[in-house]
Amino acid sequence: KVPVITLDGPGGAGKGTVSMLLARELGWHLLDSGALYRLVGLAAEHHGVALDNEAALGVLAEHLDVQFLTAREDLVQVVLEGEDVSHELRTERVGGLASQVAALPAVRQALLARQRAFREFPGLICDGRDMGTVVFPEAPLKIYLTASADERARRRLEQLRAKGVAASLLDLKNDILERDARDMNRTTAPLRPADDAVEVDTTSLNIPDVVDLILAEAKS
Ligand code: C5P
Repeated sequence: KVPVITLDGPGGAGKGTVSMLLARELGWHLLDSGALYRLVGLAAEHHGVALDNEAALGVLAEHLDVQFLTAREDLVQVVLEGEDVSHELRTERVGGLASQVAALPAVRQALLARQRAFREFPGLICDGRDMGTVVFPEAPLKIYLTASADERARRRLEQLRAKGVAASLLDLKNDILERDARDMNRTTAPLRPADDAVEVDTTSLNIPDVVDLILAEAKS
């Protein structure tokens, strides 16, 4: 059976960077499940599908025409219906669309098989909200990453600044809290640690320490 390490937790806890480094360190595949929800949100916008039209969004998710092209070792190009959407996908706006379509059971169901298909030798690191609870409940190692909302807003501000995007810390924190509430309170696959997850609070840890901690767990 192909080994899987799941990383779940709220946005800004460091899952994206930590998952990428773990995948690189172990030479494993990487599933960025948030990107799939972001793609559904973006496709809905492109096709003018309302964000509460569950049946239509389920069909859209099922038939998502997307390619993940490895442009460089550390850079994946995302092509949606022939268009490079790599940059647009990471915007706050598309994150907001993603969290709305992610609340719909039909969308989550449609993305299940697509997510499980990422499980290939020699192993898979997956980053999301329900990787350990729903998508790969049998994964031998499940990590739940958290950090305080203030720290997550601060990290997001830093990321945006690095891209030359201006933002307010307070707006980012409010956005984070709103998205946490939506992710934790939805009825299908709410954000929560799996019963057998190892919880890691990254508020005062740096990225390499978190990566080392997870690698140590993986080897134990
Ligand atoms: O992780 P990322 O910010 O890309 O995720 C965008 C949104 O997609 C999240 O706010 C969450 O609502 C949703 N999501 C989800 N389940 C996942 C991954 C992401 O519901 N496994």
